This record gives sequence, structure tokens and C-alpha cells, in this order.
Amino acid sequence: MAVAEHRSKNYVGGEWIDGTSGATFESRVPATGETLATFPRSTAEDVDRAVAAAKEAFEEWRLVPAPERGNVLFRFARLLEEQKDELTELMSREMGKVLAEAGGDVQEAIDMSIYMGGEGRRLFGHTTPSELREKFQMSVRMPVGVVGAITPWNFPIAIPAWKLAPALVAGNTVVLKPAEDTPLLAERFIELLGEAGLPDGAVNLVHGFGEEAGERLVRHPDVPIITFTGSRETGVAVTKAAADGLKHVHLELGGKNGIMVMDDADLDLAVEGIVWSAFGTSGQRCTAASRVIVHEAIYGELQKRLVARAEQMKIGPGWDPETDLGPVINREALDKIHSYTGIGADEGAKLLTGGEQVSEGDLGKGFFYRPTIFADVDPQMRIAQEEIFGPTTALIPVKSFDEAIRVTNGIRYGLSSSIFTRDVNKAFRAMRDLQTGITYINAGTTGAEVHLPFGGTKDTGNGHREAGQAALDVFTEWKSVYVDYSGKLQRAQIDNVEHPAP
Ligand code: ADP
Repeated sequence: MAVAEHRSKNYVGGEWIDGTSGATFESRVPATGETLATFPRSTAEDVDRAVAAAKEAFEEWRLVPAPERGNVLFRFARLLEEQKDELTELMSREMGKVLAEAGGDVQEAIDMSIYMGGEGRRLFGHTTPSELREKFQMSVRMPVGVVGAITPWNFPIAIPAWKLAPALVAGNTVVLKPAEDTPLLAERFIELLGEAGLPDGAVNLVHGFGEEAGERLVRHPDVPIITFTGSRETGVAVTKAAADGLKHVHLELGGKNGIMVMDDADLDLAVEGIVWSAFGTSGQRCTAASRVIVHEAIYGELQKRLVARAEQMKIGPGWDPETDLGPVINREALDKIHSYTGIGADEGAKLLTGGEQVSEGDLGKGFFYRPTIFADVDPQMRIAQEEIFGPTTALIPVKSFDEAIRVTNGIRYGLSSSIFTRDVNKAFRAMRDLQTGITYINAGTTGAEVHLPFGGTKDTGNGHREAGQAALDVFTEWKSVYVDYSGKLQRAQIDNVEHPAP
């Protein structure tokens, strides 16, 4: 793969530059274990430079009219569209997901850029009447400053877009620290943003490790907002590190999402939804269905159909159009996923299929794991409580709708949930009672669209949402503006007694 000269560097103030320490790390192809490219392992000094560039650029970018800022995002969307095939192919190599899903990842970034580009002509505040005569009042969204964005590897183009598009259209500038496993895709992303016409310094890229570059970004005094997607444990560490600076922290953390299959469900549809949500992206989506809560009346039949579908899946490299299931991201992930197979067996769950690394032929060189289904899982078992982030799902039998709701809610996370049923009353009760930020009816747990809020309750986050209008709340501060044109001192709550409320 041709790697342009400026690649594999940091991008600071509009220049592609080496890291100051000379230390490097490599990005690998999970399907083969081969090295793809080498990147600077950035230090605190590299982060400081990037933040300084972003801080300087902020003073100008915040004054660019928001519709013009939006136009940059429209151009960015067009460039992503032109490069979609190339990015899709690269994603299938660097991250490993299959072509259809990699294309979807890029498309999500295109959609988000168009949606947020439109915000350049909205960014709505409110005007309200005043309680006093000859007084005008409104609220406006203000940009905050330099945004530190820390992203994971599982949606290497979409997630940076979820964060950077709203941050930029609102008038902030950004320093991005992408995941160590997908740095090349982050470079392509930033390169296209630069080509779209962002001024130098408005967006900056610093490669490196979480505990080094990431941590410095979180602690930097000139970075008032941190937006982070990753594991719960790191989210807690990020929150603590940001606390001394009283920063705005936006977190998008784990999930342990459940699909409820009721006794009146369309079983073929349910099986399709489960397979797509449990094994798509090799189970490495925060919305992956890692639990299936099944009514006992259809438990046996669902197991049979699911196992048959899982065993038909073709395992291979993401770039092969025939592949249904690609590799997982790296050796460490593979070992963790396999350790949960042991944990499930020790806990007494019944392994129906999978449960092992694929070692045949060339696949043995990569990080492939068979789609894995456990049955007879107790809701309190670790495989039903902890995020595995791999192609493993747990079938939990239940006797009733009410029990299904209790079990589905009985976890620390609250990202996504779903119910398969033909009963409209059950569907509406599930919409009301499932304690998650996202609920699907007669679909799996995945498939968010960019114009509705994305995020979860409980340990999935800290109350913020990405996407939709809600994303703007992360990246702006409200200012309320009062204009008194009466020419005299008018006191709210004191001088408005002409027509007092009864
Ligand atoms: P994952 O399980 O997806 O690898 P992590 O939470 O470890 O999740 O990583 C997500 C992102 O957070 C990555 O970009 C990683 O480099 C970064 N990261 C990891 N540790 C820290 C930290 N202590 N401070 C800031 N960022 C971190």
C-alpha cells in the first residue's frame, strides 16, 4: 500500500511533523499480523505543541461565520465520498472489518459531516419575551476552545467524525489522539479535513499511547473539553484526570446490550437481527448484542436456528467480499475473548458453538475467533455481565416478558436494547421500561442514525450524548443575552408588577 511521504507523522498547525522523541509504534493488519506503517509515539511535548497550535487557531476560527464553518464540513463530506472506496479498503486492512461494514463506517462520517454542516445555518438558541417592557433577550451557543478528542479503533472514521464535526461547526478547534491500532485511518481522515479548507491549527493530530499522549491531552490546562470513547475503566481514569481542571468531559463507554425475543416473535427476523448485532464487526461494537434474553417457549427452536446460521458464517479477511466475519483487532483482544470462553464454561454455561481461535492455514496468522454462542446462561454469570468485545453471545432463558425486562436491565451498562415481538403493547412497554439510551423494536441492537442522540445510561457514560442536536451540548456553552432598550434601569422580579401573576 502506498503511504504518502507526509503520512505517519503528527499534524500540528497545518504541518506534518515527526514526534520529538523519535520513538515509534506500529499499526498492524489484524487479518495477517503484518505491519502496516510506523507512527510517532508522541510525548507530552508533542501534545503541548498541538494544543498551542489549536489555541492560537481558535481565536480566528471562532469568528468565522458558522455557515462558512459548515461549508468546510460539506466539502469534507464530498472528499470522503470521493475517497470512500479507498478508505473502505484501508479500513478492512487496518481495522479488519468486512467491506460492507467498513463502507458503512465511512458513510456514517459522510452523513455526520453533512448533518453538522447544516448546523452551520442553525445552531439554534432561543429568543424569549422579557417580563419587562423594552427589553429583548435570547440565548446563543458559544464555542468553548480547544477540544481534546480521544477515539477508539472500532469505528476509526465514524467516531472521529461524530466528535470533530460538531466540535468544529460550533467554532472550537481540536486535537485528536486516535487509537494506537488504527492511526493510518486517522491520518487519512485528518488529511481530508485539511484539504476541505480548514485553517491551519483548527485540527491537529497527535499519534501515540493513551497513558502518554492521551493522558497529557486530558490534563492540559488549555483543553477545556475532553470527548472520549473507549472502555469504562479508561473513562473513569479520564474523568479523574480531568477533575482538577474542572473540564467538560464527554464519555461514551461500554455496553452489554440485550436482545429480548418473545414467544410471539418472527423467529427468522430475530435470528437475522441477533447474528448481525452479535457477530457484525466481530462483536466489537459498543452496541453489540452480547446477551439474548429468550422466552422459554421458543428457546430450543431459536438455539437451533442461531447455531446453524453462526456455523454458516464465512470467516476471512475483511477485504474479501465473501467474508462474513473478519478478525478481531489484535492478539490481546483475541486472548481476552478466549478467556471468557473459559470463564463461561467454568461458570456452567453450555457452549453451543465456537469457543476457539481459527487456526487453519493463513487465518492462523491473524486474529480470528469463531462466532461463539453460550446457552443456559444465568443472568449473574460474568459472561452475562461483563463486556467481552468479541463474537460471543449468551442466551438467557426467561419465563415471561416482565422477567425479560428485569434481566435485560440487570447490568451496569445502559447503551442499547431491543425486543422482537408482534405484540404492540409489549413493544411500547419495552420502549418505556428498558433502561438504555437506545431501544430497537424488531431490529438488533445496532444501527444508529446520525440525526438522533447516541449514548447510554448508567455506566455507559456520564449523561451526554453524541450525534443529533444533543451533540452540540457537549461542544458549546450557553450564553443568555439581555438587551434593555428602555433607557432606564429596569429590575427583573422587582419592577414588573403592572400585571402580577394571580
Ligand atoms: P479500548 O478497549 O477500545 O482499547 P481504551 O479505553 O483503552 O479502549 O482506549 C480508547 C482510547 O483511549 C485510545 O485512543 C487509547 O489510546 C486512549 N487511552 C487509553 N488510556 C488512556 C488514558 N489513561 N488517558 C487518556 N487516553 C487513554
